[in-house]
Amino acid sequence: MGRANYMTFPGNTSLDYAVLHLLLESQGRTLSWAGIAGGAGITVEHAKGIVGSLIDHGFNMITAGEAGCAISEGHDVLSVPGIYRQLNTRALGRQIQYAFTTASTNDDAKVMAPSCPDGTLVICETQTKGKGRLGRQWESPRGGVFMSVILKPEITPAEVPPLALAAGYAVAKALEGQGLNPSVKWPNDVLVDGKKLAGILCELGAGQGQVEHVIVGVGINANISADHMPQEVRKRSTSISDKLGKPVDRSSLIARVLNEFEPLYHRFLESGIEPLIPLIQPSLAYVGEQVMIHNTALGSDESYYGVLQGLDRDGSILLRTLTGEIWRFAAGDLSLRPK
Ligand code: ATP
Repeated sequence: MGRANYMTFPGNTSLDYAVLHLLLESQGRTLSWAGIAGGAGITVEHAKGIVGSLIDHGFNMITAGEAGCAISEGHDVLSVPGIYRQLNTRALGRQIQYAFTTASTNDDAKVMAPSCPDGTLVICETQTKGKGRLGRQWESPRGGVFMSVILKPEITPAEVPPLALAAGYAVAKALEGQGLNPSVKWPNDVLVDGKKLAGILCELGAGQGQVEHVIVGVGINANISADHMPQEVRKRSTSISDKLGKPVDRSSLIARVLNEFEPLYHRFLESGIEPLIPLIQPSLAYVGEQVMIHNTALGSDESYYGVLQGLDRDGSILLRTLTGEIWRFAAGDLSLRPK
């Protein structure tokens, strides 16, 4: 599947979304076909066709024959106006691009970047080809959060990598707001009780040594059960609903991530990652523990073992080796694992 149909909010709300939104506003209650058609400014036939396509997109609709239809009570659907209402940002999320399903919001965000304002949020309900780092896959079933933020910072490409740490910390703060106790796993994940609950994928578009855009992709296992993940992911991952025993409001969560990220991002733009390190350091995972750092950069395949010391001022990680030397690793094609 390629790039999906997006609607732009505020602004160009698609008819599909208008119908979905009407149903969402009276979730659990049946709306008559005439009411839906009137509300969206379309014919009854058209309204029925759109509800059919919403069902094809995986929305749980209860159709009551000629009487009308409803979205099932408790069916978890993102509310784009709901996200917007809860933002207290100046730039982040002030334009929202929303699709039901797409291959990857990060890939779409790259295409949209030249024509979208700084801070545009790209979101969907589910991705068919969610991406992790180094060509890995990010499992993206319904109920998760899949968001990409288009940023246009005036920085050089070399300054970009620690931004993933700032984004990870923003996600951790947002999860704290949900009553969880997260930690930031260098360089790009968020863990709860040692298991991966969220991942960050920063991708860079640059020309002539200058950054044109950075796409900050965030995947959060919100209302997903880790039991439904593929075997190899299941044992190392968790979700908000697994941890809290109840679903979270994903629209509030998305707004919270952006609200947390914006001030951190502004500080990052002013002075780089250094002033954020004292904030992030206490939430860093595996400090004082034995870890392995695996380097796959440029086709190499090397592993380094030692005790994790913490973050350096530039966002690099410090490792004390078995011989007592301190080694420093900058974010790159590196993976960190507990030993
Ligand atoms: P690692 O976790 O192996 O140290 P990494 O953190 O760099 O590497 P990422 O590229 O950020 O990994 O994420 C992709 C990896 O995360 C996949 O290879 C898979 O193991 C795992 N994964 C994929 N989807 C999910 C998900 N929804 N929740 C948790 N983990 C996932």
